[in-house]
Amino acid sequence: MTDTLILVDPTSSTFEITDLTAPQLPVTDLSAHRGDGIFETVLVSRGSAGTTIVSRERHFQRFCASASALSLPEPDPHLWDRVIAAVIAEVTAADPSITEFGIRYAMSRGEQRTDGELRPRGWAFPVPVDEHILAARAQGVSAVSLDRGFDAYIGSKAPWLLIGAKTLSYAVNQAAGRYAGEHGADEALFVSHDGVVLEGPTANLIIRRGELLLTPDPEAGLLSGTTQRLIFDHAAELGLRAEYADLGLEDVKTADGAWYVSSMRTAVALRELDGNTLAVDETLTKRFQEIIRAG
Ligand code: PLP
Repeated sequence: MTDTLILVDPTSSTFEITDLTAPQLPVTDLSAHRGDGIFETVLVSRGSAGTTIVSRERHFQRFCASASALSLPEPDPHLWDRVIAAVIAEVTAADPSITEFGIRYAMSRGEQRTDGELRPRGWAFPVPVDEHILAARAQGVSAVSLDRGFDAYIGSKAPWLLIGAKTLSYAVNQAAGRYAGEHGADEALFVSHDGVVLEGPTANLIIRRGELLLTPDPEAGLLSGTTQRLIFDHAAELGLRAEYADLGLEDVKTADGAWYVSSMRTAVALRELDGNTLAVDETLTKRFQEIIRAG
């Protein structure tokens, strides 16, 4: 994977191509010590049909919604399109046979300024689909449920919690992942304090019950996933219906199939939750993965 970094100036709508291994971000940037910024990670899939930026528009719309939630300037679609195209050009020039990779793009608030002016910073760089992701796609994952520490549906009463915005403040999500690892599981599954299943630290949950696909309602307190929405948009062609629902842990344990879905993972089977073995639907896992990679 090439060490390309694109530095973006959202104010002048310009960018420059530079080197990911060189120091680039001043520590005084508010993203560095406050996590004050937003990001997206989008999967780029390449095959005989060409190059697909999976859920490109869903990602960009969520980037704009996150910017709005944090009172950052509205991202310029032409600028970010050019940035993404530049990353793809760099990656494919370095490795013409590459079949998939991710692009992480971000915007921070920039420096703390005394004049109150806002000068955000942007950047984008490629991320590999690593062995860990490939293993999860092939073998599935185990999870432990963890209390998210707030009641479901609190977001509308507490907009400052930024629930539903994809911010650069992921220390809690990272800690949950480590906690799961220390307790013998691959993943955490967040549950609201009042018992509603929410999401993983970096993925949404979908379950199948008969001919119904179910996923927690983003309003309950989670990130509205581009991958989950992509799958829901294709439910009918799989002979399934798709709905949002309040799920408890029992619903997940007794489901006919359960998946962690996200841009880089695509869809991975949830095989075990809190030590309970779950039903695995290998066929649907493969179909989900194909649908997502086709974008
Ligand atoms: N939930 C959280 C907290 C995430 O960080 C992510 C993605 O990283 C997702 C869900 C899945 O979102 P997407 O399918 O858009 O990648």
